[in-house]
Amino acid sequence: MTNGSRRGVFTSLFGNKKAQKNQNELCVRPPYHHVGYEFLDHCVTCKDTPCMNACEEKIIVLSAATHTPYLDFTKGGCTFCEACARACPSGVLSLTCNDEKDLHVKAKIDIIACMAWHQSLCNSCLDACEPRAIQFLGLWKPQIEMDVCNGCGMCVGICPSNAIIIQEEKKA
Ligand code: SF4
Ligand code: SF4
Ligand code: SF4
Repeated sequence: MTNGSRRGVFTSLFGNKKAQKNQNELCVRPPYHHVGYEFLDHCVTCKDTPCMNACEEKIIVLSAATHTPYLDFTKGGCTFCEACARACPSGVLSLTCNDEKDLHVKAKIDIIACMAWHQSLCNSCLDACEPRAIQFLGLWKPQIEMDVCNGCGMCVGICPSNAIIIQEEKKA
C-alpha cells in the first residue's frame, strides 16, 4: 500500500479534521526574522516574493488575506538552508538579526490518529526527524522530545494519517 492510500484509509478511520483545521490556522513565519516582528507592517511592499521563490523545499506560501509569507508544512519541512533570508531584500528575514535554526513551534502527535499507537506498523516520522526528537517507546508509541524539536515540520507531511500537528511553543 502506498503512503497516499494508507493516508486515505487511516484518515477515514481515525479522521483528524480538527488537527488539520488547527494547522491551517497556525501562521508559522519563515525563520530568520526578529522575534515578535510585525510582518503586516514591514512585508507588504515586497512584490516579487523572493523568499518564496528561493525556498527549494517550496514550503513558503503567501497568505491570501495579507499577502505575507508563512510556512505550509503539508508541503514539506524547513531545512534551515538560509535561502529565504539571503533573498529577502528588505531585512524582514535576515541572518544578521537572527541566525537561529529553530522555528519556535513544536510538533505534537495525535495518538488517536497515529497508526503506530493503534499497533499498525509505521515509523515514517522517525526517519524524517533529523534532530532525533521523535523516539518510540517500544514498537508502538512514538513520542516527541519537546526540548529537541525545532519545529522544522519535516514529520508533518510524511505522516500517512495526518497525525502530527505543529503548534505554538509553550512559554516556560
Ligand atoms: S530556511 Fe530554506 S527551507 Fe526553510 S523556509 Fe527558508 S528557504 Fe525554505
Ligand atoms: S508517521 Fe509517526 S505519527 Fe504518523 S502514523 Fe506513523 S508513527 Fe504515527
Ligand atoms: S519532531 Fe522532528 S521532524 Fe517533527 S518538527 Fe520536531 S524536529 Fe522537526
